Amino acid sequence: MAKIGIDLGTTNSLAVIYRGGESVKIKNSLDEYITPSAVSVDDDGKILVGEAAKDRLISHPDRSASEFKRNMGLRTTVELEGVKYTPEELSSLILKKIKADCEAFLGEEVEEAIISVPAYFDDNSRRATRIAADLSGLHVERLINEPSAAALSYLSRNGYVDGTYMVIDFGGGTLDVSVVDVFENIIEILAVAGNNKLGGKDFNEVIARDFCKKNELSYDDLSPVEKAVIYRASERAKIALSDIPVVMIEVPLEKQKYTLTLTNNELISMSKTIFEGIRDPVRKAIHDSRKTLQNIDKVILVGGSCKMPTVREFIRQITGITPDTSVDPDTAIAEGAAIYAAMKNKDLKDIILTDICPFTLGVAVNNDILNDGSIMMSPIIPRNNTLPSSIMRPYYAASQDQTGINIRVYQGENIHPEQNLFIGKLELQCPPTRRGDKICDVKMTYDINGILIVDVITLDGHKETKAFRSNDSVLTEDQIEKIRAKMESAMLVTPEDEKYRALIARAERIYEESFNEQRALITGRLMNFKAAINMRDPIKVRETYNSLSELLDRLEY
Ligand code: ADP
Ligand code: MG
Repeated sequence: MAKIGIDLGTTNSLAVIYRGGESVKIKNSLDEYITPSAVSVDDDGKILVGEAAKDRLISHPDRSASEFKRNMGLRTTVELEGVKYTPEELSSLILKKIKADCEAFLGEEVEEAIISVPAYFDDNSRRATRIAADLSGLHVERLINEPSAAALSYLSRNGYVDGTYMVIDFGGGTLDVSVVDVFENIIEILAVAGNNKLGGKDFNEVIARDFCKKNELSYDDLSPVEKAVIYRASERAKIALSDIPVVMIEVPLEKQKYTLTLTNNELISMSKTIFEGIRDPVRKAIHDSRKTLQNIDKVILVGGSCKMPTVREFIRQITGITPDTSVDPDTAIAEGAAIYAAMKNKDLKDIILTDICPFTLGVAVNNDILNDGSIMMSPIIPRNNTLPSSIMRPYYAASQDQTGINIRVYQGENIHPEQNLFIGKLELQCPPTRRGDKICDVKMTYDINGILIVDVITLDGHKETKAFRSNDSVLTEDQIEKIRAKMESAMLVTPEDEKYRALIARAERIYEESFNEQRALITGRLMNFKAAINMRDPIKVRETYNSLSELLDRLEY
């Protein structure tokens, strides 16, 4: 049975399988490696995932969703055509599509996957990712941290050389900087820092706003579709600037054509704050890792925004190190996940991935400093501690002749426990203890699979143990079935259906981006195509499909 690695990204997702000593990127139903992490409800209620959904973000913004990875683990929902979806439900649709595409590509069933997550994802977000996998029918033995996956991909290409690596992952909406140590066969994340509000989309927006300003348009007063058209044109211009020195942006709005030429130098000068935003996480990651820039052997760049030559140059300037370009920024993380999946199958030599605790784990205690009856957080396993980790601390009686111990476990950085995430509690009896005397030891053991074991040991040697998380599904079979049923009815049935709908979505997007005379052409061919589908005439369908694709290809380039 095939086991794959998946980069479930905020903007884009991708799957890779490690076979016969090399990683093989998997093509989706549209013959592309990258599947945009977007979901859209089609006019008849069917759900579209990937490129077609990304197109519909422009033509049907209110029926489409993207960037839901940001909300993984939060209690938010997005309403699409009267149905509310949680971030994990939307993510499960992406995973389901990837699973189906992999099965079509490989010609066999895919049931297991290693999925990558940002190193800073907290327990809730990791749990949500597992729920998404459960809902999609994929078994996930382990999640892998994105920087570890990137490092693994680099090492498998360049040999497993000991050293200290800085991984800079600059994606669509997030920047993550990690310092990773490789020693013998252990890959250890020393520190992570980042900015989850900085990414490629900021360049798009800066360009879109500049475009509006120079054309005397008010960006904030545009309709959602107009905004989306300008935004997408801006992204296209940005991507083109990675290869050519000057680009021309053309956008038709209300019969008028607006244009702007843009160079990399202009992009640099309007993106000063974005570039400056890269500096801080780099500094912080180095600082938290207790290394200096001189200790960094390689800078590995991943994420689509690291394809920008201006970004590479800026990173070279602030680190003094020419970044390594041996890994593909688009695929390195999925590749690393796939390599790890294969390792777990013993197809490869064993590498141990250690981890860091992305948050503090502790218990609530009386505030002895204020002594006002309020409670405060007493950290046991500090943030950024290497995992697996086991730490014990003594605790003291808070009242005279105390006979009960009530341990409340929290995760988070706030001194006030109620501001942190409540994990669970342990209650037990103990021999009467005088106020201020030691009453028990609390030992916390946290492993790389996300299982927290809390032991409370009283002075008479009694030990109470509780495990707080596990890799088991957090949902019952019943709950899974219920959620699946809600979405299943709306899933697409055949690859053909998907291909046709994707072409229609593309036509509708390009329609919004085109001038009147081109719009008439698109409408004509689109109507013919739809008519052919309705008549179920295979020859006509093929003919009209080809003629519409040919027109769209011509209009787009
Ligand atoms: P994420 O990790 O957020 O899913 P990616 O790593 O795939 O995203 O990065 C997506 C971002 O990369 C988008 O903002 C996209 O515009 C940008 N991008 C992709 N290719 C290029 C390129 N050749 N030049 C500049 N930016 C690019
Ligand atoms: Mg990414």
